[in-house]
Amino acid sequence: MAIERTLSIIKPNAVVKHNIGAIIQRLEAANFKIVATKMIKLNQEQAEGFYAEHKGKPFFDALIDFMLSAPVVVLVLESESAITAYREIMGATNPVDAARGTLRADYGEAHVTFNGVHGSDSPESAAREIAYFFSDNEVNSY
Ligand code: UDP
Repeated sequence: MAIERTLSIIKPNAVVKHNIGAIIQRLEAANFKIVATKMIKLNQEQAEGFYAEHKGKPFFDALIDFMLSAPVVVLVLESESAITAYREIMGATNPVDAARGTLRADYGEAHVTFNGVHGSDSPESAAREIAYFFSDNEVNSY
């Protein structure tokens, strides 16, 4: 086991429903250390670049429209095995399939696109996604 960092995004639906605080409380209670955070209103280029691996898929345009619909809160989380630990508390991609008590079950809508939160799915994506939103000196150690 090793200390890792992962990128979390509180997506627009959770922001507009005033669930930022509730989600952050869940992250801290689950022992993730928040080492960086900010609120961003993504532009088209930022959203398309972030989800570049999905370009051309049938859901891509709807996903980008959703991500542009309101600000998002991006966070860097640190813990033992943070990448898999966060994927576990986040739940399945489609909130309808997400286990009870997971973030997507509790803060996602009953539609795969509007699933409330994002989390990096591998060490490589975590490194890319953290660097996508934060410079090295914005990520803290404490
Ligand atoms: N998504 C969607 N339709 C799909 C699959 C995914 O709208 O059929 C959206 C959903 O918001 C998801 C994001 O695209 O979180 C990225 O998809 P991915 O397969 O990478 O799932 P994740 O890693 O977010 O669970």
